[in-house]
Amino acid sequence: ANAALFQSQKLEALGQLTGGVAHDFNNLLSVLASGLDVLTTHAQAHSELKMIQSMRRAIERGAALTQQLLSFARRQPLKAEYYNINSLISSFDPVLRRAIDASISLSIELSSQISAVLIDAARFEAALLNLVVNARDAMPDGGHIRMSTQDTALRAHEVGTLPEGNYVKITVTDTGTGMPQEAVKRAVEPFFTTKELGKGTGLGLSQVYGFITQSGGDLIINSKPGEGTSICMYLPAVEDDAPIKEAGHSSGDAETV
Ligand code: ADP
Repeated sequence: ANAALFQSQKLEALGQLTGGVAHDFNNLLSVLASGLDVLTTHAQAHSELKMIQSMRRAIERGAALTQQLLSFARRQPLKAEYYNINSLISSFDPVLRRAIDASISLSIELSSQISAVLIDAARFEAALLNLVVNARDAMPDGGHIRMSTQDTALRAHEVGTLPEGNYVKITVTDTGTGMPQEAVKRAVEPFFTTKELGKGTGLGLSQVYGFITQSGGDLIINSKPGEGTSICMYLPAVEDDAPIKEAGHSSGDAETV
């Protein structure tokens, strides 16, 4: 219990530090971005415009990284509602496809018989995107991503410490580099990354894991170096006729109905 307390204090301090740095860094990025806007209006040569464009892309990437750091630091409460996971995935499909390039194929196999889950839709989509981006990064020479959903009944402790019951299982499998056993063990630790500086924060999987466990589920990683990685997310199935909300991107601030 003491070790867990120490761990959570450490995370809290880390969160404050990262939050502060990310916030100030974001401000600096916006100064750079508006400076670039001014430069664009003055730039004449094609080479200048190209340079400005690549600087803008670098700023966008920096902003995406600081966004990840900020949401780690904030640890927002969940806005959970009843959803059909299949419809969430289908409506998010175009965003997922935009994250991968032509050398990677993505197939989505949704089980027709799927239970409802109580979930924060925006956070779930962020989790899916994280997994797809990780899969993409593990396949620099291209490959295949398979996403699937399935209802599954678990015995007590069959998966982690999950109690017996019905679960919705969402699996994302890639044909990428895979991970050595050491990395599998550490993958959900905050700041564990094997990516080069500026490409990864090491916060993706730790956020996904935190979100899934906070939602009453669990996340399991299976990986074989040279063959690929499979990430399974289990979410508790809602048994009764819950009022299902339709997937959609109209608003970020969902209200419970
Ligand atoms: P980041 O992507 O910023 O590095 P993550 O927490 O999402 O942070 O991932 C941590 C590490 O886990 C990655 O740097 C990588 O080494 C490993 N990893 C995650 N997903 C995969 C995957 N699909 N294939 C291979 N390695 C992975």
